[in-house]
Amino acid sequence: MTFGRDAQAGQLCIGVLALQGDIREHVRALTECGALARPVRRPEELDDVDALVIPGGESTTISKLAVDFGLLDPIRKRIGEGMPAYGSCAGMIMLASEVLDGRPDQQSFGGIEMTVRRNAFGRQVDSFEAPVELAGMPGPAFHAVFIRAPWVERVGPDVEVLGRVDRPDHPGRIVAVRQRNLLATAFHPELTPDRRVHRYFVEMAGRQLA
Ligand code: GLN
Repeated sequence: MTFGRDAQAGQLCIGVLALQGDIREHVRALTECGALARPVRRPEELDDVDALVIPGGESTTISKLAVDFGLLDPIRKRIGEGMPAYGSCAGMIMLASEVLDGRPDQQSFGGIEMTVRRNAFGRQVDSFEAPVELAGMPGPAFHAVFIRAPWVERVGPDVEVLGRVDRPDHPGRIVAVRQRNLLATAFHPELTPDRRVHRYFVEMAGRQLA
């Protein structure tokens, strides 16, 4: 394991992509799970972290800034080399191999073989909260917060579906997935106090890098 510079032995250093979105909330959640969390804004900062969280926000903006800050290719490369990554909402879109209803010039890092539709739940339900049962995260259903959220329309054979949400017109939509060391949720666990998703990611990243 290549521990980040300031990490203590055995402590994972997890970067939070700090271009746009709810960066601080992820840093807090990761810290509460025992990881050393730090913002990543430049390629050199990416070199120093063991894993990366891509926050919720606006994927078109994150995509544009990733290009402007010279991070698109370095992040694609690290993901290709096996760096664990977790994306929430816009971050899920950034990890998708295919994006529907994106802007024509929108780029993603890719990594998870899935088709994701942006803003999929429609205007009338731009934001909602709903229970989601998450495979591998025992306990009650997760109280999930969705904000102009995407859903997953197609998954490749190596993708494990971890959770689905039921909406009146859209039953059983896929909203949490994992492909090996990559994790994505259409909702924002960083905005609620339940730390099961972040703990799952920290443990998953720790096992991957051990
Ligand atoms: N709709 C946003 C996008 O396309 C995602 C919203 C969010 O991250 N809360 O990036």
